[in-house]
Amino acid sequence: MKKYIAYCGLDCETCEARLATANNDEALRREVAKKWSELNGVQITPEMINCNGCRIDGVKSPYCSSLCPIR
Ligand code: SF4
Repeated sequence: MKKYIAYCGLDCETCEARLATANNDEALRREVAKKWSELNGVQITPEMINCNGCRIDGVKSPYCSSLCPIR
C-alpha cells in the first residue's frame, strides 16, 4: 500500500522493525537490533525497534522519527 512507502522511498510494509512492532515480536526486535547495530556501527537496542511506519501515525524508530534528513 502506498501509505507504507516512506518519504525516503523505503518500503515500511516489509520493514522488519514495523513487522516486529505490528506482531509484538520480541525475538525479531532482538534480531533487528543486532543486525542494525552491526550495519550502522552504533548500538541499537531492542527497545528502539518500535515503528508503525514513516507516514503512519504512532511510534517511529529513533532514526526515522528525528534523525532522517529526508523526513
Ligand atoms: S519508518 Fe519505520 S517502518 Fe519505515 S523504514 Fe523506518 S523503521 Fe522501518
